[in-house]
Amino acid sequence: MPEGDSLHRAAQRLQVLVGERVEVETPHPRAAVKGLPGRLDGRRLEQVEAVGKNLLLHFEGGLVLRSHLRMKGRWRLERRGTARTGKPWLVLRGAEHEAVLWNGAVLELVGPRGAPRLGPDILGEPPDYETMLARLRTEPEREVGDALLDQRLVAGIGNVWKAEALWEARVSPWRAVADTSDEELRAILQAAHELMTTSVETGRARRVAYNRAGRGCRRCGTPIEARGQGDGNRIAYWCPACQPDHAH
Ligand SMILES: [Zn+2]
Repeated sequence: MPEGDSLHRAAQRLQVLVGERVEVETPHPRAAVKGLPGRLDGRRLEQVEAVGKNLLLHFEGGLVLRSHLRMKGRWRLERRGTARTGKPWLVLRGAEHEAVLWNGAVLELVGPRGAPRLGPDILGEPPDYETMLARLRTEPEREVGDALLDQRLVAGIGNVWKAEALWEARVSPWRAVADTSDEELRAILQAAHELMTTSVETGRARRVAYNRAGRGCRRCGTPIEARGQGDGNRIAYWCPACQPDHAH
């Protein structure tokens, strides 16, 4: 398993690309869905650093790409144009070298200031639920569905697992953090951790809420609703019957 020291070695190897404008490709289908080339291609790579179990790649314009290797992820540095078989998650191509990420696991853009603002990793073993709770409590007015996507509060939850975890914990995405109990927040975070871990290990993703607008809730039959939420207007999915807006 990649530990901190191997991540620091990877960060050292990747220094040869720092200062270069890089071409960005995501050949693997699980990475291709993230739309990274459109946001990063042609940007200058400004810094590469290992922080905890994360490799943070800082690009010009304040964009920070977080790579968490989990069990099988590996970074390799190769000569530009080296032939390979298989589909790496990410290729960062400079004038002479290219950095290649295999079996990515976690690959995402995070806040402009990167590391210091990154919340505890939801895929941590074990996850630091208490720090996540403390950070969520710093945003009492925010809707819990919006707060769950804020990487400064909890790192790693995306729109799919936000919907699934809230459904599992029976909490509406529209409820304010202040109106959500510690037990409910823990239940949401634990559901996200368990569902995401299972997905990583099996490669299969359970979907009972996400992308199921208008279809019957698996628990009560009420049609699932969908509406854009937060600054990014990402679509939230929820059952209006068993995920009430207010605490019981
Ligand atoms: Zn329901």
